[in-house]
Amino acid sequence: MLIRSIPCLQDNYAYLLRCEQTGQTAVIDPSEALPVLKALQKEGLSLHAILNTHHHGDHTGGNSELLRHFPGIPVYGHGSDQGRIAGQTHFLAAGEVFELGKLSIQALHNPGHTHGAVSYAVHDALFTGDTLFGAGCGRVFEGTPAQMYHSLNQVIGACPENTRLFFGHEYTRKNLEFALHVEPENPAIADRLAAITALLQSGNFSTPSELGLERLTNPFLRCEVPAVQAFVKRIEAENPLTPVEVFRVLRAQKDRF
Ligand code: ZN
Ligand code: FE
Repeated sequence: MLIRSIPCLQDNYAYLLRCEQTGQTAVIDPSEALPVLKALQKEGLSLHAILNTHHHGDHTGGNSELLRHFPGIPVYGHGSDQGRIAGQTHFLAAGEVFELGKLSIQALHNPGHTHGAVSYAVHDALFTGDTLFGAGCGRVFEGTPAQMYHSLNQVIGACPENTRLFFGHEYTRKNLEFALHVEPENPAIADRLAAITALLQSGNFSTPSELGLERLTNPFLRCEVPAVQAFVKRIEAENPLTPVEVFRVLRAQKDRF
């Protein structure tokens, strides 16, 4: 299995995923076609499938042009995104598995950012779109805080600690600044902020992250930690501090951070 990160638009990532045994190659979330075509050309690859994590234009904008270059290839997305993803041919159910060459890919349903948001799991990699970011999560546009909490903590959170997380946007630095605002005393967050700042300055990407590191530094996976609850109490003295209520306040605070 080979994965390549492709920066697109302002701060998006598309990814190439290749089965090395068969040469079958997919793109996840082509925001635009040109950088994807260039990446394929550079590696001498053809394209055999498009995987969309959700319908937003910055994750599907390249579908139509890629389909002109590679007519008839399958386009995967959640069943509920029917009519919202250009060229969609496969309408996935929660947990459904499909093949790319010899790779088995599982679609995890992650409602919250959108109703049809999915993450794609293959071996130790998980492509999370706008559900989980480095040290953060997507905005809750179509679902409820309870759904988003569940998608992040119970669905993605059930993956092994060493799962590599390939997310949809380069927001990690800004997210860590918010994480440090929530937990100023957490040395893991301060350390990661310093490391990511240096990494980005040297022209590298913060993707992928690892689930174990996210558990230590991502406030949206830390709703049961006393320091995070104390932050929420300072915002809402009456907050009952259930995980979902903590999550709701964190997300609202991040929206205006
Ligand atoms: Zn989105
Ligand atoms: Fe996005």
